[in-house]
Amino acid sequence: MSKNPVYPLIFTDLDGTLLDHESYSAKPADLLIQQINRQSIGAIIPVTSKTRAELAALQKSVPLGDAISVTENGSVIHLPLGYPNEGASDPVTVRSGIAYAEILHQINALPQKLRQHITGFSDMSEAAVSKATGLRLRAARLAKDREASEPFLWSGSEAALQELGKCMADARIRMQRGGRFYHLTGDATKQQAMACIKSEFAKRKPEADVLSVALGDGPNDLGMIEAADIGVIMPNPEGVSIHSSKSHVRMAPAPGPRGWVIAVRDVFAELGLILTES
Ligand SMILES: [Mg+2]
Repeated sequence: MSKNPVYPLIFTDLDGTLLDHESYSAKPADLLIQQINRQSIGAIIPVTSKTRAELAALQKSVPLGDAISVTENGSVIHLPLGYPNEGASDPVTVRSGIAYAEILHQINALPQKLRQHITGFSDMSEAAVSKATGLRLRAARLAKDREASEPFLWSGSEAALQELGKCMADARIRMQRGGRFYHLTGDATKQQAMACIKSEFAKRKPEADVLSVALGDGPNDLGMIEAADIGVIMPNPEGVSIHSSKSHVRMAPAPGPRGWVIAVRDVFAELGLILTES
């Protein structure tokens, strides 16, 4: 067995996972995030359907620091100053998938019988996005600042939804179901972004065994959870629950940040990594 120290990368969904579904707060996790960051014994990497603009605003209230982040469901990877290597002089943003304007173009080119059932963020005012998401008006404005994906509400039948999926697949656009919305993105997923970041860290930290831990609560998190070395499913009392039969996937004991703290503390303990109080 390897004697190298283990360095866990905690890839975490936000809504319903690190953040409470109702309050959008991560309060119960603040202390643990600070401990991990202060001791530099792992990295916490938000992986979210949110936009970079939303995440930047969130980083003012959640002590994530200027972390690496994956936004818009894996379409945008943002590496802050110092990544991927210490000599890098500027932050780097990697966009995979398909640009926002092209996704909108494909939506608007759909036959009316499908188009009429789609209410995307681009169709909605800031006030309408605020109402549908529960976000405040200012946050809704940041959610509309998109680079590579379009969330939408669907009002049609299941059969028509299948047809929509086929039309979009022909345009190389993937349809995924999130907690509240469906999402259209290019050929980018949360797990591809996770693999890309993990290999960057493995290169940067040859003295450590870099290990991926992924936490999420929605169907669009399941691929990432199953592709990680350790996967954690967060219970979702308000929406579609996900399940996995994989032996390296476990269930957190509670939803949201409370369950997140217990699950992440358990993983650190199992890996023999000791978190100190101060
Ligand atoms: Mg979620």
